[in-house]
Amino acid sequence: MASKRDYYEVLGVSKNATADEIKRAYRKLAVKYHPDKNPGNKEAEEKFKEAAEAYSILSDADKKARYDQFGHAGVDGAAPDFSGGFGDLNDILNDLFGGAFGGGFGGGFGGFGGFGGGRQGQRQQRVYRGRDIRVRVKLTLEEIAKGVEKEINIEKSVPCTECGGKGARNSADIKTCPACNGTGQVQRVTQSFLGQTVTYSTCQQCGGEGKIITNPCHSCNGTGLIRKRETIKVKIPAGVEAGMQLTVQGAGHAAKNNGINGDLLVVIEEQEHPEIKREGNNLYYTKIISMPDAVLGTETEIPCLDGTYKIKVEPGTQSGTVVRLRGRGLPSVNGYGGTGDMYVKIAVWIPKKLDKSDKAVIESLRGKESFRPDPGKEDRTFFDKIKDLFD
Ligand SMILES: [Zn+2]
Ligand SMILES: [Zn+2]
Repeated sequence: MASKRDYYEVLGVSKNATADEIKRAYRKLAVKYHPDKNPGNKEAEEKFKEAAEAYSILSDADKKARYDQFGHAGVDGAAPDFSGGFGDLNDILNDLFGGAFGGGFGGGFGGFGGFGGGRQGQRQQRVYRGRDIRVRVKLTLEEIAKGVEKEINIEKSVPCTECGGKGARNSADIKTCPACNGTGQVQRVTQSFLGQTVTYSTCQQCGGEGKIITNPCHSCNGTGLIRKRETIKVKIPAGVEAGMQLTVQGAGHAAKNNGINGDLLVVIEEQEHPEIKREGNNLYYTKIISMPDAVLGTETEIPCLDGTYKIKVEPGTQSGTVVRLRGRGLPSVNGYGGTGDMYVKIAVWIPKKLDKSDKAVIESLRGKESFRPDPGKEDRTFFDKIKDLFD
């Protein structure tokens, strides 16, 4: 499959376009490539669908933010699939043109079941899509480092078990709608800026279903849906970050008429670690050592996310020295960009309370030549560099 065009490019707007500009741009394209104006023109049809998809993402603040951050990957599956039914497209267009275009377009899109052929008269089952469910999951840095499987308890709509989602227990209780003869549409001729158009608007009596239920199922009141609590296991990959959203396709609310399930959207939150700070894939930790250890050198333990790790403190280590533990940071989601590092800042503890003999020892050091600060050029550069790395 050819790679997808950038949604902004599709609509011909800049990335800073306002919601209004996006709407206007889409409206222009929808009018230009509208199948009523381009009968049998495959290219126009593709353009029309492409624009509708771009608009469905860019007009939704949430999806737009994901798209801006992660590109097409961020909204994978979020764009309505227009290859089957056109239920979502209806909603978009009715929503968008409802006021301004009135009857001209308004209901007209009700008849779009598949551009390919047989638009006239042949009724296409409207495909509904269930709503998405959004949940937040709080993770510790340890969980983020390894990846984790979380059990998420949600209440959602599922097809009614009594009627199998049909809304009536007995198929004899589902009758063809008398108002539209089961087509789900009523035909009318209107004058619009496109000239005279025959439009098909959604039948009011059956809501476009083409069927009416005379004896609704008691369990679901004819909606075909009931509520149910469910525990869903979600695998969260290592390296995720606060604000990221994972999509479990089809785990959201069911839709009526056995339509397409919505998605479960899992929003990642991060629990603050008491000692380790995170920035991107890198981790930051401050190790406090004693003055003699800094002067004489030592070995010390660093609590990494996968266990403790020993590092060597060289004799004469300055307070503020940063030790980089390569590969001890967090992995990248999906492996892009590799694993981060852990940065350990060595801070030297200066004692505050000294007894007499301590004081005498330190006092004896005060006058010594070797304790007089004498930073070389290298040390100067070092002190200049360490300023704000950890704040
Ligand atoms: Zn009807
Ligand atoms: Zn039922």
